[in-house]
Amino acid sequence: MASNPSLVMRIVSASVAVSNRASNIIRNVLTKGDLGIVEKGKNDLQTEADRSAQRCIVASLHKQFPNVAIFGEEQLDPQEKIPQDFIEQGFDAEVLKHTCPEYLKDTKDEDIVIWVDPLDGTAEFTQGFLDHVTVLIGISVRGNAVAGVIHQPWYNFDKPGLPLGRCLWGVIGLGTYGFERETPPADKVIITTSRSHSDRMVTEAVEACKPDEVVRVGGAGHKVLLLIEGKVHAYVFASKGCKKWDTCAPEAILHAVGGTLTDFHGIRMNYSADVQRKNTGGVLATVADHAKFLNCIPEHIRDVMDKSSEAPPLDFKEVIVCGGADLEKAKKNEVSEKTSSPPNQNAESTAPKADSKSTSATVPNDNANTNTKL
Ligand code: AMP
Ligand code: MG
Ligand code: MG
Repeated sequence: MASNPSLVMRIVSASVAVSNRASNIIRNVLTKGDLGIVEKGKNDLQTEADRSAQRCIVASLHKQFPNVAIFGEEQLDPQEKIPQDFIEQGFDAEVLKHTCPEYLKDTKDEDIVIWVDPLDGTAEFTQGFLDHVTVLIGISVRGNAVAGVIHQPWYNFDKPGLPLGRCLWGVIGLGTYGFERETPPADKVIITTSRSHSDRMVTEAVEACKPDEVVRVGGAGHKVLLLIEGKVHAYVFASKGCKKWDTCAPEAILHAVGGTLTDFHGIRMNYSADVQRKNTGGVLATVADHAKFLNCIPEHIRDVMDKSSEAPPLDFKEVIVCGGADLEKAKKNEVSEKTSSPPNQNAESTAPKADSKSTSATVPNDNANTNTKL
């Protein structure tokens, strides 16, 4: 274990542990069979799995970090009694083996906001597209998404004998863990977007990127998984419907591998406590060539999208951009080439400056059809 782990690493470690517990709770709701669906608004559902997972995550993290602001998607009765077995007080030991990046070491309670989407992809969950579902816990420091946990409860559902579910986590400047980084195919353009919140403008923005393939799946978390695992080149969502809890964890993990998530003006989201919950500037996420995709968006669509209020960037000089195993190689100089694309390439963005080292490319996986109904 790293000696005297920092507050940020303790929160990441606790978030990994509690995401495992929440994932079990979500699977149990489905096994019991009564989803308890409530309509929160137009095309906006909540189930017992969303409610129970949020109770588990927020109550557990609040107990461990009582002075840190935590925002969950669901509006629940604060007086409600939380079952004792929903409270996770453990820390993930693997996370605590890692040393906190220098720029985060002195982070205080009041600098941090945790954004929780207890179940991302609820519409797909109710329809049986279970592999689209993720649990998202994003950690922001002075408005910047810096660390994230994405748990996929039904990962491997189609591979009997393999463990069900997986947890991915990452910290910008440290690395990412729990998945194999892959690069998307070089000879075509594959775009992912919403499956259940689409309209004419969403489709027009996707078409403007001249895709060879469009992958329509549920969940912001799931779409960013497709990006980092090399199944798509860009996540394009010309809509104001995505919220801060949808993007905080995915943005941090994407950023930690050298990708970029911004609004349609190229501005990074601000995750401070006082920001509006909706990402009204739209969402564009890429693993590379962010400016190229940004430039594809027609002017009249950009005009409809608000300009996000960017958080003042954190002061950190060097970020090693690669996954955990690759990070070890990079440290031994086995991976020495530098990328020409720092985490945020757009001129409008005042993102932290990064001296990025890339991982070597791995074989692309071109099986992008993840619309498997269970
Ligand atoms: P999707 O790609 O449709 O799964 O959307 C990603 C995330 O944004 C999910 O958590 C959705 O619930 C949320 N979202 C996107 N559009 C809307 C909308 N029009 N109303 C409510 N939630 C939305
Ligand atoms: Mg969501
Ligand atoms: Mg949700």
